Amino acid sequence: MLSDKALLNPLLQLLKIPSVSTQEEHTSDMEKARKYLVHLFNSLGFKTKILKGKKHDAVFANLTTDNRLPTTLIYGHYDVQPPDPLEEWKTPPFEPSVKDDDIYARGSADNKGQHMIHIMAVKKLLEKGKPPVNFKFIIEGEEEIGSISIESLAKKYSKNLLLCDYLMVSDTEMKKNHPSIDIGLRGLLYTEIRLQTADHDLHSGVYGGVAENPVNILAYLISNLKDNKGRVLIPNFYKDVASL
Ligand SMILES: [Zn+2]
Repeated sequence: MLSDKALLNPLLQLLKIPSVSTQEEHTSDMEKARKYLVHLFNSLGFKTKILKGKKHDAVFANLTTDNRLPTTLIYGHYDVQPPDPLEEWKTPPFEPSVKDDDIYARGSADNKGQHMIHIMAVKKLLEKGKPPVNFKFIIEGEEEIGSISIESLAKKYSKNLLLCDYLMVSDTEMKKNHPSIDIGLRGLLYTEIRLQTADHDLHSGVYGGVAENPVNILAYLISNLKDNKGRVLIPNFYKDVASL
């Protein structure tokens, strides 16, 4: 693909837009990224619509060529993580550089590269004639801030715009030369705990072994979150997890 300029250029253009969803100063860049995607989808014959998000809108695109054919919905996100710390970049994060088979830029591997592969794959299919399925895309702009609107959008449009037979998530990765199908994505749950016992430093000769050291209490707490097989010990943690 890297040698095919027509397929590569749209990705490079998108990578140049600093669509950082977490930072207020990039709000106009977020819009720029949306406009770029809308323009790209329209040029391929898709019908597009902006879906209102709580913070940043999502881009929806639909190419239904035949109602009798099944429909594949492809998910991606156009927002990226902030590029800091900047001094660790060997090339500027929003000036994509192509070296051998790799592209270096913020978002190239998460997730602009991946959803652009899907868009360009559809472009290639269209060049060959009528594709065997209908295509829909939803490219959101809030993935890096916890996908705060995707659940309500999915509910709101599940019977019409987002109705599909298959759903593909582009937001995964594969090792070089090892094609893979991801069958499960994990999440995270984080919390910050501050613990203070005494209000000032205590003399070890007088208080040692008597007063609790917060470090030990926190270590005890952390060591009790999982058993030695990695299973979470928090009561009811697995209560709503369906078995495969
Ligand atoms: Zn991602």
